[in-house]
Amino acid sequence: MPAAPFWTPKRLLVTPAALRFDHGAAMVERAAAAGTEIVRLPADRLSALPATYRDAKTTMAVVVASPSRRRPQPIPPSADWRFDLAEGCPAHCQYCYLAGSLAGPPIIRAYANLPEILAELPPLLGQGSVTSRSKARRDEGTTFECSCYTDPLAIEPLTGSLAVAIRHFGAWNAPVQLRFTTKFDAVAPLLGLPHGGRTRIRFSLNARAAEQYEGGAPRMPRRLQALRSVAQAGYPVGITLAPILPLVNWREC
Ligand code: SF4
Repeated sequence: MPAAPFWTPKRLLVTPAALRFDHGAAMVERAAAAGTEIVRLPADRLSALPATYRDAKTTMAVVVASPSRRRPQPIPPSADWRFDLAEGCPAHCQYCYLAGSLAGPPIIRAYANLPEILAELPPLLGQGSVTSRSKARRDEGTTFECSCYTDPLAIEPLTGSLAVAIRHFGAWNAPVQLRFTTKFDAVAPLLGLPHGGRTRIRFSLNARAAEQYEGGAPRMPRRLQALRSVAQAGYPVGITLAPILPLVNWREC
């Protein structure tokens, strides 16, 4: 089963500072090649923001994460630390908490200064309060979650950020683990990466009847196929079953 066509924004806003990072410039090149309208902003403050929900959900901005935004935060109980590759998601899950968690219009902000974001992580080795210091979970190492405010796989064909992060953890010769949760299935570019078993991918699954509430996300069989592919490629995997929905037809396929 081929992966679902990947999401592309109608418009991509990019700041001058983001364009100075090779990673940001590469995102713009990929978006332009996919037919997205590119808007080069005159200053680093985000402007030309869309007024409607529909326009915002089809807009992506490539920006530089400020020092406060790129500083990892404790994220108990799921992992030691959270860091962000991006904020926002192109899917339309009706129960998604992002709508109430992120300020401003629901555009996707992808961070161009990935080297600076990843440079924040090494000093945190062994410093977390969830897995680092737990006798029962010490084998998981220091854990870093990167899907708190986005589904990073949803935008990976444009950002390439997950691949960089997976390589970074694969080369980090220490007890660490990158982890993310996804509803998307564009895993093919991740399969051959030198992940070193240090990235754990969890797929968000539910009864098929829940698909009606998950607009824009790949259907369950595609997620299962993607789960199988990454497991065969040696990634540690997991499943998230949430939210629990009172669906009368939950057994139907
Ligand atoms: S895929 Fe995840 S992050 Fe994206 S809208 Fe759905 S619940 Fe929210």
